[in-house]
Amino acid sequence: VSAVSWDQEAVDGAARAGWLDTPHGRVATPAFMPVGTRAAVKAVDVGDLASVGAEILLANTYHLMLRPGAELIGQMGGLHRFMSWDRPILTDSGGFQVFSLDPAISEEGAEFRSVYDGSRVGLTPESAVHIQESLGPDIAMVLDICVGLPAADDLVEMATMRTLRWAERSLQAHTREDQALFGIVQGGVDAALRARSAAATAELGFDGFGIGGLSVGETPSQRDEALAAAIAHLPPVKPRYVMGLGDTDGLLDAIATGADMFDCVLPTRLGRHGKALSRLGDLNLKNARFTADEAPIDTACDCLTCTNHSRAYLRHLIQMKELSGHRLLTIHNLAYTLDLVAAARDAIRAGSLREFISTVKEARSGFAVDRGEA
Ligand SMILES: [Zn+2]
Repeated sequence: VSAVSWDQEAVDGAARAGWLDTPHGRVATPAFMPVGTRAAVKAVDVGDLASVGAEILLANTYHLMLRPGAELIGQMGGLHRFMSWDRPILTDSGGFQVFSLDPAISEEGAEFRSVYDGSRVGLTPESAVHIQESLGPDIAMVLDICVGLPAADDLVEMATMRTLRWAERSLQAHTREDQALFGIVQGGVDAALRARSAAATAELGFDGFGIGGLSVGETPSQRDEALAAAIAHLPPVKPRYVMGLGDTDGLLDAIATGADMFDCVLPTRLGRHGKALSRLGDLNLKNARFTADEAPIDTACDCLTCTNHSRAYLRHLIQMKELSGHRLLTIHNLAYTLDLVAAARDAIRAGSLREFISTVKEARSGFAVDRGEA
């Protein structure tokens, strides 16, 4: 019996709505996971996360193994108890962070320098599993090798094949029965390699599947093609998680392709920089046009921020670097992203996902008042 299972509720084209059952409860899918890198989503607390409707959080193995250490978190009763969050948690394996540090990689594992004190740290497929067993999330991820794109074909293929061998070692090392382990599909933007990686990872028999190595420099159409190639070779009864994806268009396209779970720092990071996501086009609250604007970020949003505060006040907080400004913008951007994914789920159940996606994209481009500029 798996610790985590997924049941399909409705399909619309390739898209699907379902339920992910975990030891800490049920999650409606498609689902967006706010990123709590260091067992905290920056600027907000677990009460804020519950209030915006987050049903599952992501935490980061790489950071937590270094500070405060997996052993300590284990002693404190695991991540759920440590951070007082009793709903589901997924931890990434640390692969993405480690490989952005240009580590020494061998067949055995990776060795890198800690960002905290420069000390040498090793991570192997087995130790990544053991660390996540101490952290105690509902879902652990295998250690994979993520290659930044564009990259040479032979490099991508080598990383993909090694990830597969590491996946097998991870499965053998994993013993915790109240925790699921997901494999990770790699393969860059090569559809054939993605298909091979997905089929071989599926063959190993994981509880679910991450699709990694995307949103790392490829174009949206390359990403969608790679994603579709992977999904075509994954078992339909298991959840599919696109790692590191969280922009509006990317989420909608991936949901339409048949993906179920997502995470990204984008909504929270943009919030801390004064950018508010909106159905009518994103707002840069640093822009002087909002100085005396009495409207909320989005009149249709019922988050704490939009219920109580004007753009003018939020702009003032951001300009003054007030901590409450970071919190309020983070709350709104998470509410926006979670609402978007929930609305896509409703559209799948109603059989109207295609119309929903074109309405969202049209509204955002047609009324975009303040895109992009700093
Ligand atoms: Zn709002």
